[in-house]
Amino acid sequence: MVGRLLACLLLVSLAACSSTKQGGLEIDRSIQAQSQNSRVDFVVLHYTSASNEASLKILSERNVSSHYLITDEPRPQVYQLVNESRRAWHAGVSQWYGRTDMNSGSIGIEIVNQGRQGDEWDPYKPEQIRTLALLLKDIVARHQIKAPNIVGHSDIAPQRKVDPGPLFPWRELARQGLGRWYDENLMRTYREEFQWKGLPDIAWVQKELRRAGYDAPFSGTLDKATRNVIAAFQMHYRPALFDGNPDAETLAILKALP
Ligand SMILES: [Zn+2]
Repeated sequence: MVGRLLACLLLVSLAACSSTKQGGLEIDRSIQAQSQNSRVDFVVLHYTSASNEASLKILSERNVSSHYLITDEPRPQVYQLVNESRRAWHAGVSQWYGRTDMNSGSIGIEIVNQGRQGDEWDPYKPEQIRTLALLLKDIVARHQIKAPNIVGHSDIAPQRKVDPGPLFPWRELARQGLGRWYDENLMRTYREEFQWKGLPDIAWVQKELRRAGYDAPFSGTLDKATRNVIAAFQMHYRPALFDGNPDAETLAILKALP
């Protein structure tokens, strides 16, 4: 009898521990459902095109924000400006695998980098990339983010955006298990095949771009919008040349992409 009473008291006190006052109510949080997962499906990477000070001010005081900001100091600082459970305003009008409103399902990371200056692009510092890799590993593990869902702003908004730009080391990160890459041997086989037999038509290219996640037109012609998507794809997977032309190598990469 005394044992039962003790057990009960223990249970009551445990329940009391995990319940809190909210809106004048006692909310019991002692039972957590097994069926649940993170609301975060994507990570979107950006550059700021501004200095450390300006980036921090813009992202914390204006009508734009990101969850994280990585500075370009010799030992890069990582600022968290928005809680991961909340929506930061970094993606704008965008789409990936048919999902719009990317702000709701993503974590945004801004990297301090000057971006494009005329024909030149500001290189990322190796320390920034090392810092980013550590941050990404942690985020990907906690939210179970799939490799194709680590994207650049240009991937999800190819008509408007070019960040994080052609110097962003997608291949290097993919080799560390962060993000998607293509089978390079398979790519060489397809490239040879396309060089010998000719290129597939634009409808095929648009379909394959959609399969890869991009918001590609259904026009069947190489219009400006399609060129912009191809250029964004090239910036990510073939940054040596991103002219928006569907050449044999670009299409071979597209076909070899998992
Ligand atoms: Zn951006």
